[in-house]
Formats: sequence, structure tokens, C-alpha cells
Amino acid sequence: MDQRLLRVSLIIGIVWKSNQRNLYSVWTIISGTWSAVLTELIDFLYPPRCAGCGCRLAPGKNLRVCSACLARAEPLPAPLCIVCGGAVESAATGAARCARCIAHPPHFRRARAVARYRASAEDDPRSLPALLRRHKYGLDQAAGRALAEYLGADLPIDREAIDLIVPVPLHRARLWWRGFNQAAIMAEEISRRLGLALDTTSLVRSRATAAQTARDHDARQRNVRRAFAVTRADRVAGRSILLIDDVMTTGATADECARVLLAAGARSVDVFTLARVL
Ligand SMILES: [Zn+2]
Ligand SMILES: [Zn+2]
Repeated sequence: MDQRLLRVSLIIGIVWKSNQRNLYSVWTIISGTWSAVLTELIDFLYPPRCAGCGCRLAPGKNLRVCSACLARAEPLPAPLCIVCGGAVESAATGAARCARCIAHPPHFRRARAVARYRASAEDDPRSLPALLRRHKYGLDQAAGRALAEYLGADLPIDREAIDLIVPVPLHRARLWWRGFNQAAIMAEEISRRLGLALDTTSLVRSRATAAQTARDHDARQRNVRRAFAVTRADRVAGRSILLIDDVMTTGATADECARVLLAAGARSVDVFTLARVL
């Protein structure tokens, strides 16, 4: 008999034997000291599957994406604008900033991302853009933990330059409808890994905005203008903030968040996203 199956049946046997009269106490025991065992049992009965390609993952490792899907994430092309992390129009000119950052410097200090978001890759359901899309439209709620795995082992974040992590908020109506904020899930993971304070309540989306899809930068900027507010200026004043979002497209949302955070007294705002549309 398979080792795992043997272990699981043994555990079920012990729990059942010692608690035959009271199923509730079975649950109490399981939820306490047996929680690790329960996880193993669930993994055994429902083997975890990759959030990208759906292949079976090794149980017990607490992974949500297979290594082939992680390797499929596209790196960012070089050279990139030193401010917004977007494409520099002409690599030949040797310009360090993109035309937009030269003409209209954003409010944030710099924006960085881990992977490239190529819109055409959305057609491949195993791609990171497709996973982000499923996550965004609430079709794959479990994808939150999967996305965190794409962050990689070494976050490209200067920990010493940051003292507070803030996710780009959702409007409360959208949060209620979707049930989770993907930026907040990522921010939680980053704050845990870097040991930095997390603030998910001081920056709010005070006005519901139309979806930012298929709009140019100016239209996006108009769409998000005055959409955000700081409810607790005392918590952000004097702090160096790292603003987290899942995807950055033109940077209009990040710029507007940075603007209100700085207006509330923040010392600086840097932006970090999992993916960058390029
Ligand atoms: Zn996979
Ligand atoms: Zn730029």
C-alpha cells in the first residue's frame, strides 16, 4: 500500500477510534494539533493542481504553481526607464528616462516589476497574464497565493529605503463583489517576507472608477483622478511608502495614489508590481 495512504488511514483510524461518541470532538482535535494532518489529508484527497497549467503538484509542499509555469513568466526587456520601468522609446539615444517621464515626471520615485505582461500572452491559459486576468475578474480566487510564487525568492526591492507597505485599494463595492483585493494579498506576502509594516486601510478608493481596460494614459489619468483618498494621514506622514499592485499598465493609477499619499505627508512613494504591461 502507498505510504501516504497508509499514514492517512492510520490517522483516520486513530481519530475515529478515540472519538467515536462525539464527532464534534473529532473536529476539535483535528482543528488543533491535527491541522497539519488535515492539510495532508486534503492534499491526498484533492491533490493540489498548478494554477497555470492545471498539472498535479507534489502534495505537502504548499505550492500552487509548477516550475514550468513559473519559468514561462517573461522577463522585462532592457533597457527600461529608470523612473517608471516602462519602455525607453529609442535605446539608441541612450536616454535613461522615457518620453512621458521627461515631459510629466510622475509623483512616485520609481516603479519596478518582476515580469513582463504581454497582452497577447493572455491567449495562453498557462501564462502569467492569463492567470492575472482570471484573478482580476474573480474567476480564480485561489490564484492569490499562486501569484505570490511568481515574486521569486529575491524581491527586487531595496528594503532599507522603505518603511511602510500599502496596496492599491479597491472600491468597497468592488471588494464586496469580488471578496478579495489581489494587490492586498501580494502586499501581505511582501510585508511578511521583508518584515516591513503593512497598512491596508489608510489609503482608500473613495470613488468607484470604470475598468481601466483599453484606454490610453491620458484617459486612464482622467479616470482615476480624485479616485483615492488618505483616511489616516498620521499613519503615512513622514513614511517612505512602497505601493503594491498586481499589474502596472501606464502608471496612471500608481501616480494618482502617489499624489494623494505625498499630499498627506508621505516622504516618498515607490511602486512595485508583479507585472508590467510592455
Ligand atoms: Zn503549471
Ligand atoms: Zn518612464
